[in-house]
Amino acid sequence: MPEVAFLGRSNVGKSSLINALLGSHEAHTSSTPGRTRAINFFALHEVSGGKRKLRPSLIFADLPGYGYAKVSKSISAEWPKFIEPYLGERETLAFCVCLVDTNIPPQPNDTQLITYLKQTQRPFLVVGTKADRVSKNVLAKSLAALRAAHEVEEVMPVSAKTSDGMKALWARVLTVVE
Ligand code: GDP
Repeated sequence: MPEVAFLGRSNVGKSSLINALLGSHEAHTSSTPGRTRAINFFALHEVSGGKRKLRPSLIFADLPGYGYAKVSKSISAEWPKFIEPYLGERETLAFCVCLVDTNIPPQPNDTQLITYLKQTQRPFLVVGTKADRVSKNVLAKSLAALRAAHEVEEVMPVSAKTSDGMKALWARVLTVVE
């Protein structure tokens, strides 16, 4: 089954976004940022005639957050050890969704990840989270700064809180995966 990976710094709003996409509370928002050290896989099943199909049709992979200041060095250092092989070698990985926060300036470790993804030549999309927190004007400026810093043509604004951009993101995921 095709897999869609979600990546971003701790506290970027990854769990909230996955929950909003799934329309449930599958991905637990953790109160301790950076605590999740595993890759969590969510199998999405198609529902037909009220019955859930046994085989999943799509997998969401929730990757551990990186770059949170309070996380001990050993955990931060652990990050690339299993993430890079996952991103580089996972055969079923069809799409990477890279989350960046629209409320803070572009972060060097986000650039690092995006540069790595470009090198792997995997299809990816940069998504700007928490777009509801700023005015439209500030959001437009923030998106432009993020595009410039990460050298990408597009940063798709989303809000898990208001669900803005959620349909557009789902549409993109399905286009790439299908
Ligand atoms: P994670 O560590 O990347 O999984 O981040 P979480 O999903 O746990 O979110 C981190 C914090 O940002 C929490 O306090 C969320 O309530 C908040 N947050 C996440 N998404 C949004 C959003 O779209 N809008 C706003 N205003 N806050 C958000």
